[in-house]
Amino acid sequence: MKIAIIGGGAAGMMAAATISEKQSDAEVFLIERNPELGKKVMLTGGGRCNLTTGIPDLSLVLNRYPRGGKFLNSAMRNFPPEDVRNFFEEHGVGLKVEEDMRVFPASDESRDVVDVFGRIFSKNNNVHVVLSRPVQEVSKQDSGFLLTCGGLKIEADKLIITTGGKEGGGHDFAKYFGHHVSPLAPSLNALVIKEEWTHELAGVSIERARLSVGKNSFVGPFVFTHKGVSGPAVFAISSMTAFDNPTQLTIDFAPDMTFPEFEAAFKKEVVDNPKKLFRNTASMFMPKSVADVLCEREYLEKKHNGEISKGQMTKMIELIKHFPLTISGRVPGDEFVTAGGIYLDEINPRTMESKLCSGLYFAGEVLNIDGVTGGFNLQAAWATGRLAGESACE
Ligand SMILES: Cc1cc2nc3c(=O)[nH]c(=O)nc-3n(C[C@H](O)[C@H](O)[C@H](O)COP(=O)(O)OP(=O)(O)OC[C@H]3O[C@@H](n4cnc5c(N)ncnc54)[C@H](O)[C@@H]3O)c2cc1C
Repeated sequence: MKIAIIGGGAAGMMAAATISEKQSDAEVFLIERNPELGKKVMLTGGGRCNLTTGIPDLSLVLNRYPRGGKFLNSAMRNFPPEDVRNFFEEHGVGLKVEEDMRVFPASDESRDVVDVFGRIFSKNNNVHVVLSRPVQEVSKQDSGFLLTCGGLKIEADKLIITTGGKEGGGHDFAKYFGHHVSPLAPSLNALVIKEEWTHELAGVSIERARLSVGKNSFVGPFVFTHKGVSGPAVFAISSMTAFDNPTQLTIDFAPDMTFPEFEAAFKKEVVDNPKKLFRNTASMFMPKSVADVLCEREYLEKKHNGEISKGQMTKMIELIKHFPLTISGRVPGDEFVTAGGIYLDEINPRTMESKLCSGLYFAGEVLNIDGVTGGFNLQAAWATGRLAGESACE
């Protein structure tokens, strides 16, 4: 049996490795348009590759996908984060789990992750890696599929499409086979903030705040940038609102206290310390640089707690709990993933096989699946790639 895989990224490499290691009699053609495999994987995690998550509870993991979490259930049970970690460790990549549960190679080198596949493919001679060949056309033949890439024609009994997000050709191939593709949008972007004075805070990072846009909210770290805000909590909000054009972002700098709890604690601090500078009290609840800017804007930078009026105190409490910012857009071109893709109700979640065309499989970001940051996107690509590979060679 011949199996063709279009796209040598995370999902495609895992599908090919799975077929290869099953030692089935299948012959695999892994076709990649770039001159090397896993080019995007090399860029992940700032070159360190946050390859999966250390969160052990699968239901918590599945919650990290604004789109596709339910569909991923079978693929993730088949190849959960723990098995992904074992896979890479068994193939010689030492791993580390950071405090926030992100998993990286101990070497901090994404190349180590990609090299695993090179070793697998060179050991087992049933995988033919075809590089620098963009697949231009696919068609269904009586007994299988025909692929055209440059002057090369490849016939295969089964076809796995793993071409990634919007830049890959996979959505057009899927449409040829009768599939439908949802609207696409960039996700996991930094946000541009209209209030220019916040740009002076560039580089100030906040360890923990609740960011809210409409009904969506996320607690986590973020950082002020020269244009606005970025970092994990911002990416999560950007992902939850990928298809909206949000205009209002609200920040709660004391996310672990309810409003009344915070109000009581802040007032007590002010009343108990009348000689303390008000901005120093405010900076107990938020980074000093942010507290200083806020106090300056309210003309309170030189005031002591004893001089603060009831109205000024109420306003500061309101600002710390519900700090409003205007979103003027997303930073263009900096997205990490594409939200949207091939509609999932046209794919069998237990096999990744198309419900419309037998012998055709999909895996990875080409599907309408995307996660927040933290290793969830690669985890989805490994898990769906593995399941597609297993199913195709059965
Ligand atoms: C800068 C950046 C950092 C990221 N960091 C992380 C991270 O740390 N952790 C995480 O979980 N996720 C991260 N992601 C997201 C993650 O990289 C993707 O979700 C993941 O790579 C998707 O895997 P995939 O196999 O579906 O697609 P890809 O890895 O994009 O692979 C698709 C492959 O198909 C090839 N291809 C496309 N069309 C054709 C064609 N017609 N013919 C032949 N080949 C074709 C492409 O060249 C590509 O190699 C990051 C993304 C970016 C952009």
